[in-house]
Amino acid sequence: MPEGDTIHFAANRIRPVLEGHVPDALETPHPRFGRDRWPERLRGRAVRSVDAHGKHLFLRFEGGLTIHSHLRMSGSWRVLTQAASPPGTGDRGAGWPRSQRSAWLRVRRGEREVLQFNGPVLELMTDSRTRLDRRMAGLGPDILAPELDTDRVLRRLREDDPTRPIGDALLDQRTIAGIGNLWKVEGCFLARIDPWRPTGKVSDAEVLAILSETRPRMQQSALDGIQDRFKVIYGKAGRPCPRCGAGGIHSTVQARGQWDDNRPTFWCPRCQS
Ligand SMILES: [Zn+2]
Repeated sequence: MPEGDTIHFAANRIRPVLEGHVPDALETPHPRFGRDRWPERLRGRAVRSVDAHGKHLFLRFEGGLTIHSHLRMSGSWRVLTQAASPPGTGDRGAGWPRSQRSAWLRVRRGEREVLQFNGPVLELMTDSRTRLDRRMAGLGPDILAPELDTDRVLRRLREDDPTRPIGDALLDQRTIAGIGNLWKVEGCFLARIDPWRPTGKVSDAEVLAILSETRPRMQQSALDGIQDRFKVIYGKAGRPCPRCGAGGIHSTVQARGQWDDNRPTFWCPRCQS
């Protein structure tokens, strides 16, 4: 699932290919970019930096232009090493995962190619717009920032509706950026907090416990890209609780949609309170 760790993993893979270099080629194969002229606008410009904040990824070019990406549920980034192929054959070599038309962006340097598939948010903007755009300007601290500003997270959480379930409040990117539905579910489980408990009844220490369980796992996933191994309870509705459901104790994982977005929430009513 594209959550903060997925995006940081992508940035960590793209950075050594592009940062500090002028790409050899940049293309936007998808028809939606027909008149946008990205190749002309970015030609000859080096990539200053590749960074992520929460679920947003930025390729920042010289000259004050930045490509902004948000994958939502459908997009993905890939970094491939192209097998040598005779020019003009159209052979993309091994590892080309999908049809060429589904790539929205291709940036090549040497034998390596950075690809973005299926957007759905992929836009070229000025640096100043990346700072002012309300989707980015309002973001809370990134759970994967080198130093997590927990005071600010708590302050923003306490400004939120205290009747909102804690599981849902953790998804609010204005409070903390990078947690998606998977990490919300696993974080609440790890800290033994019922995701349905109103935020006003969750202590600061309990919120910090959720963050301190979640952050190192997300950091690991951002390094190696293996998110699935942290799925302990997510998607396990109806099965015995992996913590307290053994030894004859009847405790099964529950599932129900939560709050406005109706995101599926998994929890154990016995060991999460
Ligand atoms: Zn349990």
